Amino acid sequence: MTADSPLSEPVTRFAPSPTGLLHLGHAYAAFQAFDAAKKGRFILRMEDVDQSRCRPEYEAAIYEDLAWLGLVWDKPVRRQSEHFAAYDAALNRLRGEGLIYPCFCTRADIAAATSAPHVGPEGPVYSGTCRHLSQGDRQARIDAGTPFALRLKTDDAHARAGGLVWHDATRGAIEATPEIFGDVVLARKDTPTSYHLACTYDDAQQGVTLVTRGIDLFAATHIHRLLQALLKLPTPQYAHHGLIVGADGKKYSKRDKAPTLRALRESGKNADDIRQMLREENVPGAVLWE
Ligand code: GLU
Repeated sequence: MTADSPLSEPVTRFAPSPTGLLHLGHAYAAFQAFDAAKKGRFILRMEDVDQSRCRPEYEAAIYEDLAWLGLVWDKPVRRQSEHFAAYDAALNRLRGEGLIYPCFCTRADIAAATSAPHVGPEGPVYSGTCRHLSQGDRQARIDAGTPFALRLKTDDAHARAGGLVWHDATRGAIEATPEIFGDVVLARKDTPTSYHLACTYDDAQQGVTLVTRGIDLFAATHIHRLLQALLKLPTPQYAHHGLIVGADGKKYSKRDKAPTLRALRESGKNADDIRQMLREENVPGAVLWE
């Protein structure tokens, strides 16, 4: 089988963060993963590394909403907050290869260091101040208890890994260009991992062979592909789907008070109604199909 062959029994996943109630955009993403699993397996993962924003009641609501939508997932559900030691081991491996460094910069430092920042997929690309600190300087700050994040030397890492390709269902073979992120954060100051590291590690750990997710995370795959190479993890196939947008043309989000699945349920709708609402012609505004 080549990397491009459709998978007969894909393992897919839905990986929400329990930071709020699910809305129609989540239902769309969950259906994409569930329907793509066909004869394969559908996995659920709680991306709850940001413990300050995650709540058990939102996790419980996710189970309730997905069951209401008629989805069935493999048990047990993986919670990222229970696997910090594994992410730490992955970071140690990268540390041993000289590919990460501590970054003590505050947001204000970063803004001050970059008057005309080069903007990447996650905002201004880091200027690299802490990459050039002497070992003594680094140790002194660590000893002083200055909080730090861990950043990847993305260009060096990519040079070490060599040319990398991943496969997207609609766009075909994509050459990875992780440099567009600059030196990406792999462990945050407030939590000992990051979305990129935990997600990439877990997709491999859970045996995911087809990652379905929104087009807003397309660029993230460049970094994930690099991390797979560095950590010797398998590369799944990818299918980045369009996003549900509201009548104002903006993507549905928790912050915009998009109608929640709970509210739709309480208004008397059922799972078929939700599937029907998510058909292109019925969505207020548009569905950006890719
Ligand atoms: N946890 C991410 C989110 O809620 C999804 C990550 C992914 O699918 O890779 O947007």
